[in-house]
Amino acid sequence: MTDAAFRNFIDGRFDEPSASFDSIDPSTGAPWAKMPAADESDVDRAVEAAHRALRTGPWASMTATARGKLLVRLGDLVAANAGRLAELETRDTGKIIRETRAQIAYVGDYYRYYGGLADKHEGAHVPIDKADLDVTIRREPIGVVAAVVPWNSQLFLSAVKLGPALAAGCTVVLKASEDGPAPLLAFAELVSEAGFPAGTVNILTGFGQECGRRLTSHPLVSRVAFTGGPATARAIVRNTAENLAHTTLELGGKSPVVVFADADLDSAANAVVAGIFAATGQSCVAGSRLLIERSARQEFLGRLKRKAEAIRIGDPQDPATEMGPLATLRQRDRIETIVAESLAAGGMLVTGGKRPDAGAGFYYAPTIVDAGDSNLPCVREELFGPVLSVLAFDTEAEALALANDTPFGLASGVFTSNLGKAHRMARDIRAGVVWVNTYRAVSPLVPFGGYGLSGLGREGGLDAIRDYTRSKSVWIKTSDEPIPDPFVMR
Ligand code: NAD
Repeated sequence: MTDAAFRNFIDGRFDEPSASFDSIDPSTGAPWAKMPAADESDVDRAVEAAHRALRTGPWASMTATARGKLLVRLGDLVAANAGRLAELETRDTGKIIRETRAQIAYVGDYYRYYGGLADKHEGAHVPIDKADLDVTIRREPIGVVAAVVPWNSQLFLSAVKLGPALAAGCTVVLKASEDGPAPLLAFAELVSEAGFPAGTVNILTGFGQECGRRLTSHPLVSRVAFTGGPATARAIVRNTAENLAHTTLELGGKSPVVVFADADLDSAANAVVAGIFAATGQSCVAGSRLLIERSARQEFLGRLKRKAEAIRIGDPQDPATEMGPLATLRQRDRIETIVAESLAAGGMLVTGGKRPDAGAGFYYAPTIVDAGDSNLPCVREELFGPVLSVLAFDTEAEALALANDTPFGLASGVFTSNLGKAHRMARDIRAGVVWVNTYRAVSPLVPFGGYGLSGLGREGGLDAIRDYTRSKSVWIKTSDEPIPDPFVMR
């Protein structure tokens, strides 16, 4: 039974969709809402509206200060509506209510941060090496932005794109994932309430092959901001061969958490549990590879096993629940297959590896595999689920080599009480984020992004706005003398 219907938001209006699909509640496995399936013509209307808003109308002539005020208002509205948005995200993705509430309240700060920055992003005056010329560099909005996000943390992953894009003066067509789009479609009401002019922000959902492909290859799109998996990223890069859009890619990870024997092991165990079992492991920064110093291995695995087995699994809407279901059935199928292959190849199950007794939803128990061999599939592949693979090391050099033994490089953790060791590891780990004696901290003020297969470009922080602009160099002759020799470059 479905009890709710959602609509796309195009050119300032909520559209009656021509086609729709069922969204599944992962905690029950049953459909609960109808979602609009945007087709190519919907995408075209949205991109054309964004292009009009960019060139004509109130947004095009609005001061950066006024844009910033709109963003701050949007941030306030998101924070004020965090409870309602969190319930929707929990219903549509199975992410626990404890986490969606806290995360969405913080999403408001991302809009406020970029709202504050909107009129502080300046061009430049160049001390040019020619006496009679004056050169200024203007920073102009890059154009229409196509933002494409995956199903986990859609509001959060949208804020790191919309915030800097709108602060820079761009207009946006945002594609929610076809899995769990409810919170983003509801967020469109807040965009409308905040007072953004029609066409400035368009929000729709639909399937990757049709809606996503058309959006990212559209000739009027100048910038693509994508978060998702590496296979889709490759498809998107091929799509942008059509429009040559400047593209940033935030992709997956197989992040190592290195625990030395000299660390505060109880604190490290809590961080490892948070790193892999929070959000049911469906986090791009999931600390899915534990590298533990051999002398502490047995004790540490004992602690982790006890903590993993005590996790309260169940209804994600219940504030007491600590781990909810996976977001989709195909996610659970894939995880079950990779864990089975890894055990068959010699991995030892420490705990989990099965469906818990938690009802008909897409549940999977917190799982720890003592891998022993870094070639096991559970060590190599991003599972995007609650599965921790464990490898032991004897020396700092071995720990570093194992940490870097992956094509990914998004996040990492180092736990030690030795400051020098912490600095050396932080310097040499190839990942966009290194957390030392902590894990899973984020802030709008700090750049975020990966090495290698984890992506291209950075989101967050001051520089993100620049990435939504392009420069224009303006040369002005200041002398009244006529141009001398026309056949010599000045
Ligand atoms: P996905 O790559 O399957 O889908 C992401 C989005 O791309 C969806 O909106 C989808 O509809 C769209 N898409 C699919 N095919 C497309 C195409 N041909 N053209 C254009 N768009 C297309 O990812 P997912 O399974 O929804 O999410 C999980 C992945 O996202 C994981 O790999 C995870 O690590 C990654 N992720 C990364 C970050 C980060 O910030 N680095 C954050 C969260 C998730």
